[in-house]
Amino acid sequence: MPTAADETFTRIDYLARVMKAPRIRESARRLADQAAAHSWTGPQYLQAVLEAEVAAREASGAKQRLRAAGFPAVKTLEEFNFDHQPAADRAQLHRLAAGGYLSEAGNVVLLGPPGTGKTHLATALAVAACHQQIRVGFDTAAGWVTRLQQAHRTGRLDAELRKLARLQLLVIDEVGYLPFDADAANLFFQLVASRYENSSIILTGNLPFSRWGEVFGDQAVASAMIDRIVHHAEVITLKGASYRLRNTTMTTLPSARLEQQAD
Ligand code: ADP
Ligand code: MG
Repeated sequence: MPTAADETFTRIDYLARVMKAPRIRESARRLADQAAAHSWTGPQYLQAVLEAEVAAREASGAKQRLRAAGFPAVKTLEEFNFDHQPAADRAQLHRLAAGGYLSEAGNVVLLGPPGTGKTHLATALAVAACHQQIRVGFDTAAGWVTRLQQAHRTGRLDAELRKLARLQLLVIDEVGYLPFDADAANLFFQLVASRYENSSIILTGNLPFSRWGEVFGDQAVASAMIDRIVHHAEVITLKGASYRLRNTTMTTLPSARLEQQAD
């Protein structure tokens, strides 16, 4: 004979299914035991079940957003060694990770030589955003331009820009590593302009703004772009030797050996 409690749980299972919250099936039973053990009131039990459901939804949403973002590797601020990079201000980066700039469509620009942690910090901020219900896309500048070129070729450029506009945060990694031809520079400009004061960009680059004319083949395009990016941006310039090479003496590097041979 099913007890009244069994019947209640059978009904809860049905209601949870209808509500598309199947996890409640498990949490309702588990938390009912806790409620009995701790003499919770009805509202306290209801609250615990709802809290568990919302926490589970947020966790699975963040997991989905992290996957969709396309990070080459997931990095966090906790893994970043600030002692090794004194040009990065720990307090500023933790404040940025809290995400205030995202609601103001602000940008973050990380500049500096190779291996100084630009991609790490850009990823860490974007990972933090994924945990705050923000939809993120990550790619290199060349990668974004390739996508836009493909869309342009098939007459879908506007649709692609609208699709990217639905991502509240775009990470554009490695601006400056590859120079753009005029078409690529134009598409990149459209990407930056489409987000101006609407949605955020985190951008990394190895060249100071003064040399962006070389990247985009045109000083006027570069200036117009920089203007839009930095209008609402925090610019962080990293310094020093590559973290990748921190345990390597320069003389053991292949390029250093080649240079020595050339002497
Ligand atoms: P960049 O993009 O500036 O070329 P990365 O962010 O890719 O450099 O850093 C290179 C590697 O070194 C990555 O694996 C990154 O996680 C690590 N790294 C760089 N700086 C630090 C740091 N200060 N603390 C911990 N790891 C770091
Ligand atoms: Mg990088």
